[in-house]
Amino acid sequence: MVGGIDFAVRYPFTSAAKEILKSDSFAAVTDEIADMAVRRITDALNGTARKGVYAGNEEKREDLLAYAAARMILGYMRNNYLTNKFAVSESKKVRSFLDDESMENVDALATELGIPSVRKENALLVRLPVFLRFTPRSPHYQLINRRITSGFVAITEPEKKRMMEEAVRKHIERLPLVKNPPERIVSSAKRLLDELPKREIRAVAELEGSHPPCIVELIDAVKKHQNLPHPARFYLAVYLMGIGLSNEKIISFFSNFPDFSEKITKYQVEHARKRGYSVPSCASVVGYGLCRANCGIGSPLNWHKRAGK
Ligand code: SF4
Repeated sequence: MVGGIDFAVRYPFTSAAKEILKSDSFAAVTDEIADMAVRRITDALNGTARKGVYAGNEEKREDLLAYAAARMILGYMRNNYLTNKFAVSESKKVRSFLDDESMENVDALATELGIPSVRKENALLVRLPVFLRFTPRSPHYQLINRRITSGFVAITEPEKKRMMEEAVRKHIERLPLVKNPPERIVSSAKRLLDELPKREIRAVAELEGSHPPCIVELIDAVKKHQNLPHPARFYLAVYLMGIGLSNEKIISFFSNFPDFSEKITKYQVEHARKRGYSVPSCASVVGYGLCRANCGIGSPLNWHKRAGK
């Protein structure tokens, strides 16, 4: 059956979870729950989040309260880096549950996340706007590779679950701001800040200077610790190579991404360098949907020539 505390604790952002907590006032967030909330955020930050193991329903309820408290702390702190790290961690946790979930539960959760689907003649179909909204921006999901019929796009079950992961991430990233929270949330936020390793935007010094508008937007996104789709990362990486940055500096700058993996980034950057990928022309950048102005320079690299760099 959809719902219940076991469902809610796996998917603490759902109406099932809200229903369980609806009679709780903020007084239910004790010091212990606030500690759990802070730990949940630091685990997300350190990449050490694990599935919960519970002795009973009371511990599951406490876990739900800790999730709600973690959202309040993040909504109060308004720290993009922390919020986006938390969103990536929680959405990956959700994805790890989905393969063991009944089809009824997956469908109910997908519908609540805004991804209703229909099964027709052995095909799984979602509406085109839903497909566009929740698929990761990778070549695998390009429409050119898809069968579209009467406004519906055919997807596979694993693709649907990947879209659900994306929907959870986006949902958590849209965290509402929390003004004037209770003192326990304020002190937890302060403690969290004290516990955080002192970070700085890495390799930013090399990126000061003049860049075309399309690149400025991407650099700003990285500085704000926002995730970027794969084509945007690729474009930024080859551009940075094109202006002479070393692999190490590019990897260091990319470490600001909430979903940064040093191993994967190192492989991708080294691979791009080895293959000698060149900076795409402005016409290609327009095709990626990343052009932001009409600079009339043919190639983003010509920006530097024009600027006399
Ligand atoms: S015209 Fe070229 S350099 Fe200017 S924003 Fe578009 S892609 Fe970038």
